[in-house]
Amino acid sequence: MLDEFDLISTFFQQVPQRKDVIKGVGDDCAILQPPSHRPLLVSTDTLNENIHFFSTASPFDVGYKSVAVSLSDMAAMGGEPAWLLLAITLPSIDETWLTAFSQGLFACLNTFNVDLVGGNTTKGPLAITTQILGFGVNSVLTRSNAQPGDHIFVTSTLGDAALALAVLSGKQSHHAFNPEELQRAMQRFSRPFPRIKEGCLLNSIANAAIDLSDGLQADLTHLLTASQVGATLYYEKLPVSNLLKTLDLNSQYNYVLAGGEDYELCFTVSIENLPLLVKKQAELPGITHIGYIEQRPGLRIVDPQGNPIILAHKGFQHFS
Ligand code: ADP
Ligand code: MG
Repeated sequence: MLDEFDLISTFFQQVPQRKDVIKGVGDDCAILQPPSHRPLLVSTDTLNENIHFFSTASPFDVGYKSVAVSLSDMAAMGGEPAWLLLAITLPSIDETWLTAFSQGLFACLNTFNVDLVGGNTTKGPLAITTQILGFGVNSVLTRSNAQPGDHIFVTSTLGDAALALAVLSGKQSHHAFNPEELQRAMQRFSRPFPRIKEGCLLNSIANAAIDLSDGLQADLTHLLTASQVGATLYYEKLPVSNLLKTLDLNSQYNYVLAGGEDYELCFTVSIENLPLLVKKQAELPGITHIGYIEQRPGLRIVDPQGNPIILAHKGFQHFS
């Protein structure tokens, strides 16, 4: 039977891959060499069993996603991720579960050249907290610099992950859907692909950015509030997959605007910088223009008939 320290060395200790890791897992602190003259970006996220993932979820996916959600925050700032800390609470030592979990974790870490440099392991109800550290590249993107007149974009289709979650939790019947399209949506939910490359490309082009974890309406509203501006979006302009388009408009609105779990970027670009964005188009294939930043506060979303869309459910919130 493994003890806590065997567990750490078996599943979480890896030879450092990065030159800036002087000492990774194993001592009281990791020793890291940050580059000079670049801002350090830091963010943390928790995934709780039965809130953020089902007990039946594949442990590989849980490991992958616990890194991906943190990387998505780094992407939103246009940063380059470097190091991850992992605090994990486990009900017991289940080696089969831990093997798949750590494989998923390292699959995502290796894709983005991030080293796991430390963490903490405790016993209790399953919960996973990751902390990502990285560096600003050129300028750092924030939520608070959107300007009236900016064009608003998103990096890919919205609502697919939320629809997958609704199917998994039995709130939406899967019978009407094309199985391959539904499978792709499931993939979006279980293994979101953090938009690190896009964030790095955009940080010298965009005025403001946010990653979409709680739904476009809620997250764009955070950006608007932080920037003290407003916006109008046109539902017809939003990128919506064929899978979502099989639903009636009212159901679509809930998934696309308030579903959450997209982990795409929403960003704004000034008219002057639009040519720079066009130049990078080949490297930013999925991006879609969805509306405009305006002086007047608030978010207005217009349906295909030109009427306002008012949602009962605004987006994911933990305490409501
Ligand atoms: P301490 O008691 O001094 O805080 P720990 O015994 O908790 O140290 O951890 C020993 C080493 O293992 C430390 O380097 C710590 O960062 C690392 N560590 C513990 N748990 C994890 C984990 N889940 N993932 C990665 N590293 C871990
Ligand atoms: Mg110690």
